[in-house]
Amino acid sequence: MSAQIAEGLRLRRVERLVQGVATSDGAGVRLTRVLTHDLQRRLDPFLMLDAFRNENPDDYIGGFPDHPHRGFETVTYMIAGLMRHRDSAGNEGLLGPGGAQWMTAGSGLIHSELPEQQEGLMEGFQLWVNLPAKSKMSAPSYRDIPAQAIPSFTTPEGVIVRVIAGESHGTQGAVQRPDTEPLLLDLHLPAGSRFEQVVAAECNAFTYTYRGRVRVDGTEVADRQMAILANDGDRVAIEAHEDARVLLVAGRPLGEPIAQHGPFVMNTADELRQAFDDYQRGAFGAAQVRAIGA
Ligand code: MN
Repeated sequence: MSAQIAEGLRLRRVERLVQGVATSDGAGVRLTRVLTHDLQRRLDPFLMLDAFRNENPDDYIGGFPDHPHRGFETVTYMIAGLMRHRDSAGNEGLLGPGGAQWMTAGSGLIHSELPEQQEGLMEGFQLWVNLPAKSKMSAPSYRDIPAQAIPSFTTPEGVIVRVIAGESHGTQGAVQRPDTEPLLLDLHLPAGSRFEQVVAAECNAFTYTYRGRVRVDGTEVADRQMAILANDGDRVAIEAHEDARVLLVAGRPLGEPIAQHGPFVMNTADELRQAFDDYQRGAFGAAQVRAIGA
């Protein structure tokens, strides 16, 4: 892109800072729900972002036993620790530090997400990305992306950019999805560095700082804070005055009705009832233990 075009792009402001809500889910896993239910419309197509960072095994050892999903995608990104995934479609994988898992629940499956460690730090994120109405009943699919398979590059200023989904400065991410066109970057910014990313104004976008603090278009964003970015520009500028690590997330809104009941996200209440009925009669496949969780 020429400098002339780049200069024509406006920087997105921070519209709102969000602290997240401490909660627990699954079998007693302590986590921070950063993107909560009341932000689903504002951050369409994203439905949820959970951040977990637990040193004490009591806060994660229970994991997330068998539970169903229908109508959207779950994206897990690990920073530290090991998590074992199993699902009713017969998929199994071990997720480790720097690795990601992209699961399209589609018409429905039952899965478990259980820690494969008895001690030590367990840290990572789970992001829920909505599916358009036309794809909610598509066949489930699942992909493990080990750390070494996530494309990354380093800018001249020393910013390490891990491109989990979407595209950044010509580097294609590990995952490309239609309709919502999600961008998911993990940015490691050394002190004194600045990073810019083009994000179309019509796409909803936010950052989540998980080490240090940064400035986004001049607004200070603290550790463990989400910054919702206004839809008033075509690029995002992030500056670090200390070493920092940040997720940058963006996607194209679907603009469709959102009907959610726990692990089911559809467009109407009737579709939710259908999901619950289908689950109760075993249409999501076999599981050893049945419990509805996140
Ligand atoms: Mn799940």
